[in-house]
Amino acid sequence: MQNETTKKVCVYCASSPLIDEVYFKNTEKLAKLLVQKQVEFVFGGGAKGLMGQLADTVIAEGGKITGIMPHFMRELEWAHEKVQQFHFTQTMHERKQRFLEGIDAIITLPGGCGTLEEVLEVITLKRLGLFDKPIILLSIGDFYKPLEEMLEKCISEKFMTEEHRNIWHFVKEPEEVLQVLGW
Ligand code: AMP
Repeated sequence: MQNETTKKVCVYCASSPLIDEVYFKNTEKLAKLLVQKQVEFVFGGGAKGLMGQLADTVIAEGGKITGIMPHFMRELEWAHEKVQQFHFTQTMHERKQRFLEGIDAIITLPGGCGTLEEVLEVITLKRLGLFDKPIILLSIGDFYKPLEEMLEKCISEKFMTEEHRNIWHFVKEPEEVLQVLGW
């Protein structure tokens, strides 16, 4: 049962299993640090890539993780078998809404178009005042440098304002995620 002091994060991350080991190692490190702080997790529910690494680590460390996935992905047998708690949604849109319910922060690890879409949507929601929690991007090996530069370009060319820079936090190390959150 979640009590008032329990923190919950939503983690957006890669489904690809083909990526460099450095991404898996840092995902494992982050998951361990957060479980030590009794933080609970929601994620996309996948068994592969960084999603699989995240869930494997949280479960091995005795933490709590919930998968949120559309039915069609379950039918494709993409759901992580060891994750006990799942919510299945009708659509991808509903899934993204569910990700944001009752969470205290978004943590974005490296990923492909799915991860980029998820984090840009939540940045947009925060810009519009429809979401107000921290959004942290863990830029393992400078993975997110091009995105940070793109957002800076949006600001320097006045597509966004200086204030909008407060919407996101780019960090390089798992420990910095906790520092930004103050947990
Ligand atoms: P990506 O960053 O492109 O790997 O996307 C991660 C997101 O893509 C997840 O939240 C899912 O929406 C979706 N996705 C793509 N492939 C898979 C998979 N094999 N298993 C689970 N989710 C996947």
